[in-house]
Amino acid sequence: MNENEAMDLLRKFVGFQTENGNEKVVADEIKAIFDKAGVPCKVIELEQDPSRANLVAELGHGEPVLGITGHMDTVSAQQEGWETDPFDVTEKGDLIYGRGVTDMKAGLAAMVFAMLNLKEHENQMHGTVRFLATAGEEVGMPGAEAMLKQGYMKGVEALLVGEPSGYNIVYATKGELNLNINMQGKAAHSSTPAAGINAVENLLEFLDTITKRINGAAEGKNNPDLGDTVFNIDVIRGGQQVNAIPESASAEINIRIIPEFSNTEILALLDGEVKKFNENHKANVSYTIGMDIKPAIGPKEAKLVNVVKSAGKKHLEAQGQSGDIPMYGVSGATDGSVLLLDSPKDTAYVVFGPGNDTPHRVNESLPKQMYFDFIGIYIDIINEYMGIKK
Ligand SMILES: [Zn+2]
Repeated sequence: MNENEAMDLLRKFVGFQTENGNEKVVADEIKAIFDKAGVPCKVIELEQDPSRANLVAELGHGEPVLGITGHMDTVSAQQEGWETDPFDVTEKGDLIYGRGVTDMKAGLAAMVFAMLNLKEHENQMHGTVRFLATAGEEVGMPGAEAMLKQGYMKGVEALLVGEPSGYNIVYATKGELNLNINMQGKAAHSSTPAAGINAVENLLEFLDTITKRINGAAEGKNNPDLGDTVFNIDVIRGGQQVNAIPESASAEINIRIIPEFSNTEILALLDGEVKKFNENHKANVSYTIGMDIKPAIGPKEAKLVNVVKSAGKKHLEAQGQSGDIPMYGVSGATDGSVLLLDSPKDTAYVVFGPGNDTPHRVNESLPKQMYFDFIGIYIDIINEYMGIKK
């Protein structure tokens, strides 16, 4: 692999428009590359939509099994303010621009090159590397869910996720609950409010109650790796005009979750409040769940953590930078949150991939050198983990 080949593949990946869908084109492209190199792999379409697919590739045999994973979808690029074509890779100075360069088509491409490199050292491998390229990480994680169901996490003792962390290790990610709260009242003219049931006023009262209840229950609960529960009301809708009693109103809530106050506990608390509210009010409240993801925490002393630390440090030092690779827990979930659901507790979970702080934004960018670096880093990590001597 040279830098031109690396840029060509990234340009291809970015050119495939996989905004919350259409991932099969990327999977087919990776399969064509792997077929040519003799890396066994298959494309597995998602049941619900044949234009969406996962790809699984595997080299080596036996234990240990190292899983490496990246997603093929991106968030939408339909935003105002792009200064370059989001579906082309544009170079400006040290940075490259395009939708997905940071989140996470560079990480995905780097993993493809690492697999191609591994193929050349296959006979020296002590173990198995399983590459899982997923669909739909950005919305609902249907790809990761299908992989888990189809048994592709079986035997995986360590999972490396190529999401954008830069030169930092993330070993823990909070869970997430998105809730839509719906309040149903009854319309009336505002001069005769008694004839109606004001959905907006009822919604405000209910939101106030659950804010206090959830924040109260979360108080004093703290996770050493992830910190506190975070509760936000992010959207409120309701009412038509100033002289009419609103018939319905809704709100959207986002909760970032730690194991000490779980998804199940929060939903149970909410169910109790919904029941109580409906018994004591003329309005009717209900809710639907938009997203329900559990927190994931990997062991800090895992072999993968140490291998990633030393590979990362070596590459930083090659650029004249010193110091250890920082390690922490963050709010954002990854495919790992779903893939690791049935794994033993001591399964390593490491998020480590090329990227800066521009995911999901207009003019998403990535330092070009970081992309090239991570190709080398992934190769080093895999070689070290598989006991391959260069
Ligand atoms: Zn991502």
